[in-house]
Amino acid sequence: MKAGQLREVVLVGGGHSHVQVLEQFATQSPPGSRLTLVVDTPIAVYSGMVPGFVAGQYRQQELEIDVGRLAGLAGARLVVSKAVGVDAQERQILLEDGASVSYDIASFDIGSRLAGHDLPGVSQYSATTRPIGRFIEQVDQIIRKARDHDPATPFRVVVVGAGAGGIELAFTLQQRLQEETSTSVQMLILQNQTDILGGYADSLVRRVYRRSRERGIQIECNRKVAAVEPEAVVLAEGERISCQAVVWVTGPASHSIFKESGLPTDRLGFVRVRSTLQVEEHDELFATGDCAALIDHPQTPKAGVYAVRQGPFITHNIRALIVGRPLRIYRPQDNFLALLNLGDGKALGTKWGRSVEGRWVMKLKDWIDRRFMRRFQEPL
Ligand SMILES: Cc1cc2nc3c(=O)[nH]c(=O)nc-3n(C[C@H](O)[C@H](O)[C@H](O)COP(=O)(O)OP(=O)(O)OC[C@H]3O[C@@H](n4cnc5c(N)ncnc54)[C@H](O)[C@@H]3O)c2cc1C
Repeated sequence: MKAGQLREVVLVGGGHSHVQVLEQFATQSPPGSRLTLVVDTPIAVYSGMVPGFVAGQYRQQELEIDVGRLAGLAGARLVVSKAVGVDAQERQILLEDGASVSYDIASFDIGSRLAGHDLPGVSQYSATTRPIGRFIEQVDQIIRKARDHDPATPFRVVVVGAGAGGIELAFTLQQRLQEETSTSVQMLILQNQTDILGGYADSLVRRVYRRSRERGIQIECNRKVAAVEPEAVVLAEGERISCQAVVWVTGPASHSIFKESGLPTDRLGFVRVRSTLQVEEHDELFATGDCAALIDHPQTPKAGVYAVRQGPFITHNIRALIVGRPLRIYRPQDNFLALLNLGDGKALGTKWGRSVEGRWVMKLKDWIDRRFMRRFQEPL
């Protein structure tokens, strides 16, 4: 690079880490650089508040971050197009519309897709939580469908996946449907493993079973959904369960962009990063949040709290690489506070193997989520 030439810094994706990079660069932009943000959509949705939206506790605007506006405040060029490839040799981000963006330094915070998203009928006939912006619209469609449903027969919803997101969405959607429709609601959670909430505390699992019995939410484990039809799910062993709506909340799967671009990935296709969040063997590429696999900490959960914590590190390290300073080492925390909204004003919480519940837990969740969102929604 010639002396005096600006370094092209390209952020791909507007996830939990990159919104912090934009926030920080808006107040102090790194010298000698030009910033570009590439996003498939200029509005990012904060997933932590989505169950609250489903319950009717938040309006849509309250969960949205206008990353286009943040880019403007940071003096960044905004490119609204999906990144579909990386040419690491030529240092180009390849876009869906055929264009490309050159970079000296690029960073990925593009989140994940859903496991099983390519099974027959899943994307056509179920409400999928990725992309999450579309999920918001699909929730409204389910509520409209339930309002129009014949009250003489139950309105059955199948939630596929019993991780934290699936549990929250089953409880919050049931609450909303009961409040806003006159039909009787049957909520069924199907889980392909032996138990729910893998990796979470046993005491939390017991609390969820207790609350689901009280609320009439049915949970069935060892039930693998193989396909979705217009008014049914089909299990791997062939059984068909009829239902009026399906919510697909299975675990994270990688975007194909990394593997297809020949970048180093783990066996699931997530891009391998060192503790500086730099892609293995590519000092000029960073990745953060769900899309990255930490080489030194491969068990790190795919959860927004980790993407949030990585924000200050990715901000520092991009700046450090530009100005030639030492990069910081990111070490994920051993455990994190998970808070599950039950939709009825109460929430469950868990950390360090213990669990709690009540209205105060929901108040704490609301306070944490709103505090995070205020940083990006109010004038910087
Ligand atoms: C219902 C639900 C509730 C959840 N609640 C919690 C919770 O309470 N706490 C928690 O820790 N985790 C929670 N999670 C998990 C959490 O959503 C993810 O771990 C988190 O969103 C990951 O953040 P990220 O920054 O990696 O990516 P994301 O937040 O997914 O952001 C990715 C961004 O990249 C953009 N993008 C994607 N692909 C491209 C592309 N090819 N080109 C350009 N732009 C692209 C997207 O539009 C988006 O702006 C929840 C998940 C769900 C589904």
